[in-house]
Amino acid sequence: YQVHAALVRESADKLIGTVFIFNDITDIRNIERMKTEFVSIVSHELRTPLTPMKGFIQMLIDGLEEGWLTKEEQREYYQIIQENVDRLSRMINDLLNVSRIERMGAAGIEMNWEITDLRKAAEVVVNTQKGRTDKHTLVIDFEPEHIEVETDPDKIQNILQNFVSNAIKYSEGGEVRIIARQEPPSEEFPQGSVRIGVKDQGIGLSEKEIKRIGEKFFRSDNKKVRAVGGTGIGLFLVKHLIARHGGYMWVESELGKGSTFWFRIPLRQPKQDEVAKAS
Ligand code: ADP
Repeated sequence: YQVHAALVRESADKLIGTVFIFNDITDIRNIERMKTEFVSIVSHELRTPLTPMKGFIQMLIDGLEEGWLTKEEQREYYQIIQENVDRLSRMINDLLNVSRIERMGAAGIEMNWEITDLRKAAEVVVNTQKGRTDKHTLVIDFEPEHIEVETDPDKIQNILQNFVSNAIKYSEGGEVRIIARQEPPSEEFPQGSVRIGVKDQGIGLSEKEIKRIGEKFFRSDNKKVRAVGGTGIGLFLVKHLIARHGGYMWVESELGKGSTFWFRIPLRQPKQDEVAKAS
């Protein structure tokens, strides 16, 4: 508590009482602590891509000066630098989007709506992610094979990218399956919908953790989670991106066995008032 005290006088020489004001500042303290923690996590994460960038730029400078660098090596180094620039710019974009969502909710996310073949989006994700691991098998399991959804291709890729990259990050190996099932019109989604899941054979989540998925900055205390880098922003953004489509997400998981991150979105762009309020 923060305590303020003041003497109350009727006149300069007549004291009639004392006023105490008790302010409960636990919440403010917690917010302050979270802010400090957040700044330190984010700064650390932002610095991670800089280390390989610096290293490979130095190698390019030395190698070109001393004349030992082959064309192949140059191309490889530039590619590593480019991947890290992309990663850095994705992280900064995520942060900007978090602050936009904080101000305006899911409706604040700008969309470039386009009829999109979901399978193509999944293939792009599989192709970018499969280079990251040789311990996982990535499987696309769609019914029907091609499902056309009105979405923003960048955003749907972003959602899948997050789920698949988490599935790889939080499992030591095994299968990562991207499932999609087109669903007939229902009361909830009169224009039809699609149910999409990313299933892994990883560390899983407890009941308690499942409830906290999608919370801003939530990361499990699990040692295996703490051992890999992360900010706990990814799923917060994903939850709002899904809400922007008028859909919702949920998780099925068993500790030590694996998880499936599901979401369902309508096949066509929602009306303004249907943009779900993810909170
Ligand atoms: P980050 O991966 O940066 O920590 P996310 O928002 O993507 O942030 O995920 C939040 C948390 O949810 C993770 O830290 C982890 O505890 C949990 N999580 C996400 N995906 C999985 C998964 N596939 N298996 C187990 N836990 C997961």
